[in-house]
Amino acid sequence: MQNGHRSYDTIHTDVLIVGAGAAGLRAAIELRQSGVDTLVLGKRKHGDAHTIWAAGGINASLGTRDPEDRWDIHAADTIGEGHYVCDPRAVEVLARQAPERIRELHEWGCPFSLTEDGEIDQRYFGAQSFRRTCFAGDRTGEAVLHTLVDKAREEEVPYREDVYITGLVKDGGRVTGAAGYDMDTGRYLLFAARAVVLAAGGLTSLYRRSSSRPDENNGDAAALAYEAGAALRDMEFVQFHPTGMTEPAEMDGRLVTEAVRGEGGRLYNAEGERFMERYSPEHMELDARDVVARANYREMQEGRGTPDGAVLLDISHRDPEYIKERLPKMYEQFMQFGVDITREPMKVSPTAHYAMGGVKIDFDTGRTTVEGLYAIGEATAGVHGANRLGGNSLAETVVFGKVLGDHLVETLGEAPEPQPDKEAAAEQFAGLDTLGPDGEHDPRDLVSELRELVWEHGGIVRTGESLREGLGKLEQIRRRAESLRVPGGPTSPEFEQALNLRFMLPAAETVLRGALLREESRGAHYREDFEEERPEWQETVLYAKSGDGMELWTEPLDGISGEIQQALEEEYSLDYHYLE
Ligand SMILES: Cc1cc2nc3c(=O)[nH]c(=O)nc-3n(C[C@H](O)[C@H](O)[C@H](O)COP(=O)(O)OP(=O)(O)OC[C@H]3O[C@@H](n4cnc5c(N)ncnc54)[C@H](O)[C@@H]3O)c2cc1C
Repeated sequence: MQNGHRSYDTIHTDVLIVGAGAAGLRAAIELRQSGVDTLVLGKRKHGDAHTIWAAGGINASLGTRDPEDRWDIHAADTIGEGHYVCDPRAVEVLARQAPERIRELHEWGCPFSLTEDGEIDQRYFGAQSFRRTCFAGDRTGEAVLHTLVDKAREEEVPYREDVYITGLVKDGGRVTGAAGYDMDTGRYLLFAARAVVLAAGGLTSLYRRSSSRPDENNGDAAALAYEAGAALRDMEFVQFHPTGMTEPAEMDGRLVTEAVRGEGGRLYNAEGERFMERYSPEHMELDARDVVARANYREMQEGRGTPDGAVLLDISHRDPEYIKERLPKMYEQFMQFGVDITREPMKVSPTAHYAMGGVKIDFDTGRTTVEGLYAIGEATAGVHGANRLGGNSLAETVVFGKVLGDHLVETLGEAPEPQPDKEAAAEQFAGLDTLGPDGEHDPRDLVSELRELVWEHGGIVRTGESLREGLGKLEQIRRRAESLRVPGGPTSPEFEQALNLRFMLPAAETVLRGALLREESRGAHYREDFEEERPEWQETVLYAKSGDGMELWTEPLDGISGEIQQALEEEYSLDYHYLE
């Protein structure tokens, strides 16, 4: 097919799943098992999605260690620690269905760590009332993803590697496909589908310090949905994990899993003080991530950090063999740089870790606000509110992957045959053709500048003045991004960076604008000029494209169901001192 400049291939499928992490694969397996024509694609090789980096665990109220745990207490913990702006329906679906999904993963061969009785073991994780986090050492994401890849291969799910989706194609108001290119050959591709599913992950690479893999999590899913007219929500809520590595430079921001604290790790400042006693004497290091991250930040701001800008995380009081068994990845991650965590503390500092915000969906179907377009996994918003509980996002991927699969199996027959508008497709490819060697600015420089500004202006502590300044700087980057210098063609790294930048610009704008609008502090969103949580802000912020601009508005949340409300009133809570 010719688009005026270049030819492109057209590929037809009933369901196109953009993203091959846990969410995309779980949905694909469901669809394939029911005989639905499905194609999954990712930017990297099969089995190499961001999920592989997930470490500490996946939540479900199995009650292996604490039989008194229940789904409604899991839901209550999630809503409480999400500061009452989680979508109650999302949380209910998650908490009710997680046990079945985890047992299913185990049946499919996921190598979860087991108790002596052969049950799926569970560990403590921050701010959860019971031991609810199932794990495979500290390589849980790898175990889950490999299990899903194997299952997808068994079900013969078609997969395309190294495909970058650059835009969605619409016909009237309906999404009918997606445009992109093959990163190996440079060939332009048009996918025509009855349903397009965004399972393309999050956006923490917008930040200079983040736990993300390099060149991923640039906000692709949010930007693709936004450009297609779909609503986003909760973009102001970005989770900063309390413990990211600080050295060597190439590891800056890399995650030190919460499982270290779940297994008893303690935080100290440079004066040898166990400072969490001051911030959270009851929950200590296992308080919610926002509380611990801000405590670390404050210690450093007030001069009690190490000279090179860190606090210390120490697990060396535990038996070395126990540490190596429970935290093998962390042991190796530090050992390769000469730090033996069985004998000495780790230097850590907060790092951007997870976007609670993303595409607005309906939690019984995965539908977005645009017909033909669906989303699942970290690409979406609503489950985690203002602060995510560790272990809930892996659970979210498999729970909502299955929900979406079930819905599409039932309803796909009603969707029209895909006939992507050729003009719309040509427009997408023309956008790619504008990238060439004659532009003025190196996209890599602009990406670095953007990451620096989002870290500085939309980071762990925010103010109205600084957010406005950040938006001004972002506008300047946007203008310069109109003239990008891309000497190599579509197979070059600069080409990919230029496209990453195109996604990062609207994604960063939503984060800054939402943070400016929300004049309060709630969960991970901390405004120094509005330090209190304000009841009138117990609402969700929505974002959508409006003409050339961005529209933001707020909506009230649905009510919490009776069972979860009762669990909230029963006030379950973790007693950290069990660990001592
Ligand atoms: C270091 C780290 C540790 C974590 N540990 C835990 C944990 O212990 N427990 C927990 O619950 N959560 C954890 N998380 C969070 C969890 O890993 C993620 O939320 C989850 O894996 C997201 O899965 P996903 O399927 O939604 O997306 P991803 O796994 O991010 O997959 C996204 C997919 O989309 C593809 N893609 C993206 N953009 C495009 C595009 N434009 N075109 C084509 N393809 C595209 C990618 O190639 C990839 O295949 C951790 C996160 C990090 C960073």
